[in-house]
Amino acid sequence: MKTKRVYVFKRLPLRKDYYAICLFGFIFSVRPLSQIEVNHESIHAAQQKELLYIPFFIWYGIEWLVLYMKYRDATKAYFHIRFEEEAYKHEADLNYLNSRRHFSFLK
Ligand SMILES: [Zn+2]
Repeated sequence: MKTKRVYVFKRLPLRKDYYAICLFGFIFSVRPLSQIEVNHESIHAAQQKELLYIPFFIWYGIEWLVLYMKYRDATKAYFHIRFEEEAYKHEADLNYLNSRRHFSFLK
């Protein structure tokens, strides 16, 4: 298992409907996470490492903005970010990170 440890805090500076975030390979959450949720965040950890962290967040933000302008819907834009598409598609496969190819978010 390549999933990461989760650091749980009572409060995090996140939107109310967000309960976890992966930053620089660390997973922070406002509650214990299910295995699938940990796997989802661990996939983001792998993506961030591949893009050397800071470029990941820049890319993520720009892609969200472009998709938001396209769809005019923040939630729809979020689900279409390539990093989220990969994470949601494979989060239920708890062995995914053992066989994942590098840069799998590139289609
Ligand atoms: Zn995600």
